Amino acid sequence: MIQIFCDFDGTITKSDNIIAIMKQFGPPETNVIKDQVLAQEISIREGVSRMFALLPSSLKEDIVNFVKETGIIRPGFPEFVQFTKEQCLDFYVISGGMDFFVHPMLDGLVERDHVYCNATDFSGTHIHVDWIHPCDGHCGNACGLCKPSLIRKLGKPGAMKILIGDSITDLQAAKLADKVFARDFLITKCEELGIPYTPFETFADVQQELAKLLEVAR
Ligand SMILES: [Mg+2]
Ligand SMILES: [Zn+2]
Repeated sequence: MIQIFCDFDGTITKSDNIIAIMKQFGPPETNVIKDQVLAQEISIREGVSRMFALLPSSLKEDIVNFVKETGIIRPGFPEFVQFTKEQCLDFYVISGGMDFFVHPMLDGLVERDHVYCNATDFSGTHIHVDWIHPCDGHCGNACGLCKPSLIRKLGKPGAMKILIGDSITDLQAAKLADKVFARDFLITKCEELGIPYTPFETFADVQQELAKLLEVAR
């Protein structure tokens, strides 16, 4: 059995939606927080919480519309999801993004019970992030949504685990996978750490490689 764990921002979509949202709607302070996260002075969890806490809840519809208009799905993704269904491969989206933009973009493509992301609460004056998939006892990185913890939780014994991702937030998950499809910064990190990977640009690339793998397995 094969289980596929796929990142959302920068992997299924062409660019990072949180960064785009903050550029469009965030006050200048969000930039300072972003730099603190990148410099690893504060955790991703703390940084992202603080950035969303600067956005008024009343912006919800505007942000959803903005992401729907500007977020571009990487070519080959709908066909790839269809392929995983035909081949009975378990496909999961594990995203550090927020439910209010991840779900609208994936509805009609991936069933919601196979999409793992953060929850958000708009009942207060500003957006509050609920970290509903936190780090388990094996991870002390304050990830926010913890990808390695989710793989440990969802992973079935004996299954071949495949990770598809693009950035530093996918690195710990890549270490747990049997096969990694990487692009962008994740390639740099895999090279540095000697983690074997297959580069990809579209999901047609991933599909082609997986088809070959299934041929060999047969
Ligand atoms: Mg990403
Ligand atoms: Zn973690």
